Amino acid sequence: LANKKFHPQPTEFAVKDTKIGPDNITIMSGPCAVESEEQLLTIARAVKKEGATILRGGAYKPRTSPYSFQGLEEDGLRYMQTASKETGLATICEVTSAHAVASAFKYVDMLQVGARNMQNFELLKEVGKTGMPVLLKRGLCATIDEWLNAAEYIMSSGSSKVALCERGIRTYETSTRNTLDLSAVCVLKERTHLPVIVDPSHATGVRSFVEPLAKAAIACGADGLMIEVHNDPAHALSDGPQSLDFDLFASVMEGLKPYISLA
Ligand code: PEP
Ligand code: MN
Repeated sequence: LANKKFHPQPTEFAVKDTKIGPDNITIMSGPCAVESEEQLLTIARAVKKEGATILRGGAYKPRTSPYSFQGLEEDGLRYMQTASKETGLATICEVTSAHAVASAFKYVDMLQVGARNMQNFELLKEVGKTGMPVLLKRGLCATIDEWLNAAEYIMSSGSSKVALCERGIRTYETSTRNTLDLSAVCVLKERTHLPVIVDPSHATGVRSFVEPLAKAAIACGADGLMIEVHNDPAHALSDGPQSLDFDLFASVMEGLKPYISLA
C-alpha cells in the first residue's frame, strides 16, 4: 500500500485545516512534553505566529528512565484540545499504548508513533484502526524496509494517511544524539508516495543544528519539519537542550523562508 509502484502520485492528506503532501512544507512545532495548560497555550500562540500549522506536544512520554517525567496523560490531551480551539492549530500527540490511542482519538487530530514503538505491531494496528492521520517515526535502529513495513501495518489496518518521520538513527557517532539520515528522504521519495517529515530536533539533540539540517531536509525533498520549541528550554521537563526558545524559533523560521517558498 505504501509502494510507489502501485500508487505513483504523491499522497496528500488534510490534518484539520492544514495539508501534508507536495507543494507545501508543513511545520509541526511545540514542546517535547505538555507540562501545563498555561505552558502549552503560550507555546501554541508563539509557534502559530511564526507559521507552524500543527502543534506537537507529548502527553505520554516514552522516557529512557522510569524516574523521568512521564507526561500528563489525558490531562495533557485535554490541554492540546484547548490550545487547538484557541489558536486553530491542528494537533499531534504520541501514543504509546492502545489505551492512549483510545484517549487521543477524542482530543487530537493526528497520532504519532514514536521511534521506540515503530515495531510495536499491536500498537500499529490499533493506530491504523482509527483511520486518523499518523506520523510514523523511524525506529532507532530500523532499516528503511522495516520502516516501510511498519507503515504497511498501519495502512492495512485502516489508515491511508501516513507520513514518515526521519528522526535520526543510532550510529557510532556520539557528538549528536542520533545521526540524521538525510539519504533516507531521497530513498523514500523513490520508493513510496507517502509524505516525508524530518525532525532535526530529536536527530541531533542540539538546538544550533536545527536550522542547517532543516534547510538540508527541504533541499532533499522533505514535505515538512518537526521542531521542538519551549517557552523556557533551560527548565523544560524533557529535551531542553534541543528545544528552541521563541526568539530562536522565529529566527529559524525566517531563515527557512526562502527554502519553504522554493518547495
Ligand atoms: C518525541 O517526538 O517527543 C519523541 C519522543 O520522538 P522520538 O520517538 O523520535 O524519540
Ligand atoms: Mn522530545
